[in-house]
Amino acid sequence: MTFQNTREFAQQLDSQDELKHYRDEFIFPQHNGKNVVYFTGNSLGLQPKRTKKYVEDVMNDWGNLAVEGHFYAEKPWWDYHERFADPLSQIVGAKPSEITVMNTLTVNLHLLMVSFYNPTAKRYKIICEEKAFPSDQYMFQSQVNFHGYTTEEAIVEIKRREGEHNIRLEDILTKINEVGDELALVLIGGVNYYTGQVFDMKAITEAAHKVGAIVGFDLAHAAGNIELKLHEWNVDFAAWCSYKYMNSGPGNASGCFVHEKHHHADLPRFAGWWGHNKERRFKMEPQFEPVHGADGWQVSNLPILSLAPYLASAEMFAEVGMPKLIQKRNQLTAYLEFILHEIDSELEGAEFEIITPSNQEERACQLSVFLHGQGRSLFDYLMKNGVITDWREPNVIRLAPAPFYCSYEDMYDFGQTLKRGIIALK
Ligand SMILES: *Cc1c(COP(=O)(O)O)cnc(C)c1O
Repeated sequence: MTFQNTREFAQQLDSQDELKHYRDEFIFPQHNGKNVVYFTGNSLGLQPKRTKKYVEDVMNDWGNLAVEGHFYAEKPWWDYHERFADPLSQIVGAKPSEITVMNTLTVNLHLLMVSFYNPTAKRYKIICEEKAFPSDQYMFQSQVNFHGYTTEEAIVEIKRREGEHNIRLEDILTKINEVGDELALVLIGGVNYYTGQVFDMKAITEAAHKVGAIVGFDLAHAAGNIELKLHEWNVDFAAWCSYKYMNSGPGNASGCFVHEKHHHADLPRFAGWWGHNKERRFKMEPQFEPVHGADGWQVSNLPILSLAPYLASAEMFAEVGMPKLIQKRNQLTAYLEFILHEIDSELEGAEFEIITPSNQEERACQLSVFLHGQGRSLFDYLMKNGVITDWREPNVIRLAPAPFYCSYEDMYDFGQTLKRGIIALK
């Protein structure tokens, strides 16, 4: 499609957008009486209007039924988490039994590493991406230290080549083969949080399995953003947070995937009563017997008040389905990219550079833009003028037009604000 950088053209795309009604299902912060242009759905998704009722239902059940709500609420609390298996399995490409929801992301990755990172004298190394999200880096460091290794001994980072912004798949695969039978675990982000680069999880999983390693993915920026086929790709485990693309609310619960092939295995795990045989959970027996399936990794009884908004949003995703979201995502991101290039050429270039891969196979919702010159003050200008984006050192703004609620007209408005900002700051 040939794009045009005009309001009429953007409005025309909006009028043809099959998902346009969903925009009204979200609450937008206001700027001068208008919705802001919201680019930080990759950090904290907007609140769906239908969320409130899910939370109120729990509040009412708690008020009316108190302890009996565990069994007699309309959505009983004791197995509330099982309601996620269907919608989330569709979103991440899993079998329902491979899904569970609990805790928060970093906590879950630690718990999963208890099961899936068991170094031996020969096989003890972890491959991760260079400049992984800091929480992941701290997790790796503390895990290898806990097992008696230093970071230098046990952590192998895949680096970008000199002068390049993204990591090449061939470099990941080469490194996997190089580390070979010393490799215990590959654990990287499915989508890099900084550049928005999407990794080929299928190829990585195959290569790592070939050398006998386990493979996990941190899907913080992937869940609800890209097509995932975790089961088919044979990924061993994965976890994601729900407050980014999945719009579940600040700091909310994390989803986990454990491949079926591990459900019957006798893996080490840190157990708790919510992972115990469901039929016998309240018999308070001394011997732990895990539920078969990802639910066997549960630890505590669940925070129902925080699961309620996540359930609202998970059901919304299942209602629309990833294919439609991905289709809009691709066009919206392409339009944003077009507008950035238009503004750049109108201003005679070199104001900024998109560091996200331009190839649609290797990116998803996010475009990361490296600002030359007036970086921080341009960011401040955007924020003061109704464009919500975020700032990452040294000079990057990340733009994530979430297809659920961002419009093509938002992209046009953003372009105009950006242009005014660059001119004003010259
Ligand atoms: C957002 C994000 C996190 C955050 O972890 P929490 O435990 O939810 O605070 C971790 N890893 C990555 C890659 C992220 O993008």
